[in-house]
Amino acid sequence: MQFEDISDSEPGCSSMEEENVLVDSMPEDDPNGNVNVQMGAAVPRWGPQHAGARELAGMYSREKRLQERFSIGASSILFTFVIFRLISTWSSDNWKSVPIAAFLGILTADFASGLVHWGADTFGSAETFIGRNFIRPFREHHVDPTAITRHDFIECNGDNFLLCIPNLAHILYQHFTYTREEIHEWAFIHWYLLLLGVYVAMTNQVC
Ligand SMILES: [Zn+2]
Repeated sequence: MQFEDISDSEPGCSSMEEENVLVDSMPEDDPNGNVNVQMGAAVPRWGPQHAGARELAGMYSREKRLQERFSIGASSILFTFVIFRLISTWSSDNWKSVPIAAFLGILTADFASGLVHWGADTFGSAETFIGRNFIRPFREHHVDPTAITRHDFIECNGDNFLLCIPNLAHILYQHFTYTREEIHEWAFIHWYLLLLGVYVAMTNQVC
């Protein structure tokens, strides 16, 4: 009752004009032909049924799946070893520095994930080899925003685990080649990289 009173008193909100807006509007261009021919028809234009989304989802290959499995496996093993090494070389100084490393790691992961997302949204194409494997998921979520919620753990997190492998491997390499003093000096950076890796690995799961 109250709502009707408000809309009557405000020009531009009458149902007559709303109708005109719908009739006079042009459908948005969509190269995939997902256009509501009847304007105002409540057919969702984006989602799993979107032709582009289907095409992108169809490009998820067995090889890509294998790479994701390998990445999660290798990365998990490296994470375990690095955590074990860093805890076994823990010194009392770390009580002060590790919380700072943890905080900087969160900031870095937040900024870097945004930057990577923007880069993959902006540059390249899903048609190239790199694009098929690494840009495709970013393009998929634009035409099917909830696709990620239907992906399993491996598809969701495989590439993030892959990103952690070089740093984790490098930390282990340093631990096996450095002296005790050098390892002690590097502790802050190692904890920072480890915690950054944990946040990066979790980014898709929690966002
Ligand atoms: Zn995006």
